[in-house]
Amino acid sequence: MHDAGTLAPARPSPATRPAPRELVASLPVYSKAGGTVPPRWRASSNESFLPPSAAVLAAIDAAARRCQQYPTLQGDPLVAALSRGLGVDEGQIVAGAGSLAVLQQLLTAFTGPGTEVVFAWRSYEAYPILVRLAGARDVQVPLAPGHRHDLAAMAGAVTDATAAVILCSPNNPTGTVLTEAEVEGILARIPAHVLVVLDQAYLEFTDGAGSSSAHSLALLEAHSNLVILRTFSKAYGLAGLRAGYLVAHPEIAAAVRAASPPFGLNAIAEAAAVAALADTGALGRNLATVVEGRTSFHAALASRGLELPASGANFLWLPVGQGAASLEAACLAEGVSVRSFAGEGVRVTVGSRDAEAAVLRGVDAWLAGGGKI
Ligand SMILES: *Cc1c(COP(=O)(O)O)cnc(C)c1O
Repeated sequence: MHDAGTLAPARPSPATRPAPRELVASLPVYSKAGGTVPPRWRASSNESFLPPSAAVLAAIDAAARRCQQYPTLQGDPLVAALSRGLGVDEGQIVAGAGSLAVLQQLLTAFTGPGTEVVFAWRSYEAYPILVRLAGARDVQVPLAPGHRHDLAAMAGAVTDATAAVILCSPNNPTGTVLTEAEVEGILARIPAHVLVVLDQAYLEFTDGAGSSSAHSLALLEAHSNLVILRTFSKAYGLAGLRAGYLVAHPEIAAAVRAASPPFGLNAIAEAAAVAALADTGALGRNLATVVEGRTSFHAALASRGLELPASGANFLWLPVGQGAASLEAACLAEGVSVRSFAGEGVRVTVGSRDAEAAVLRGVDAWLAGGGKI
C-alpha cells in the first residue's frame, strides 16, 4: 500500500517548459528600424528601390504554379546558371535561403564550441548572432580610422583556436571597401587551415573600387581556404524571397552542402534568382541609379558639414556618434526610416530620390536643432 509517507522524496519541481540552450538567451538581437508607424519611405534595410522586373515576375508566377512540388535538392538550376556566369565549377557553389543561411551552414560545418571567429566591428550585425549560435566565440576587432577593416589587427587576432575570419567588403554599415591588394595581403597572412570568408553582399555597387568579382574569384585557385559569399537580396532586389550562395573550393562546398537542410532554397526564390541573373538590363538600371544617387547624396551631406566615408555600397554611413538616435527620429519625422546604431551612427540606403530628399530634410531639421537629442 502506498501512502504519502513512503513516497520517494520530492524531486526539485520540474520546469514548466523546455529550456533552450543557455546561449540562446545571450544572443544579440537583430535590430529593426525604429518608429511605430510604417514609414512612407524605407532607407533602413539596404533594399532595392525597384520592384521586380517583368521577367522576374513572370518567372515567379510560373514557379508559383508548380509549387505543390518540392524544389530541387540543392538549387540545381541556379547553381548551373551561376556556374556559367561566374566561370566556376558547379561543385564550388552552394545556394541557399539567403547568404545568411549559407553562412550559418558554413559556420555549422567548420566552427563550434572551442573555436573562434574573427571579424571587424562594427560590421554586419548578423555575424555575432550566427557565430554564437554555432557555439563558437566571436572575436570583434575594432575598425581602423576611416571606418575600415583593421587588417593587421585582424590577422593578429588569429590564434590556434581560430576557425574563420570574416571580411565584409563593402562593409555594412560603413560602406568601406577592401582593395585587391588588401584582400591578397590578408589571405597571405591567414594560415591555410583557417577559413577566410569574404562577404560581398554589396559587390555589384562597388563601381570599380575594391576587389572585383573576377579578381576575388581568381583568388580561389591559390587559396583553398577562401569562401566568397554573395546574395540576391541587394543589387538583384530579391530580399523578400531569400536567395544567396557561396563560392569556394569543392571540398569546402561539399562540407557546407552536407551541413545544409535539404530543399533549403525554395522554388520561387530559385526561379526568380535565375531570371534576375539573366535580366542584366534591370541590374544595370538599378546600379546606375544607386551610383548616381550615392554621389549626389554624399555631396549633399558633406556640404552640410557632415563627415562621412566614401561608400562602395547602396548606403551611406553617417558616423554621428551620440546623435544617432536623434538623427533617426528626425528622419522618421520626415517619413523615412533609417538604421541607427546607438552611440555610433546612422546608415542610410541610397536609390530612391524621394527617400534621399526626405533624409536631407531630416538632417537639416536635426542640424537646426543642434545635431543632438
Ligand atoms: C544584406 C547583407 C547580407 C545578405 O543577407 P541575405 O541573407 O542574403 O539577405 C549579407 N551580408 C551583409 C553584410 C549584408 O549587409
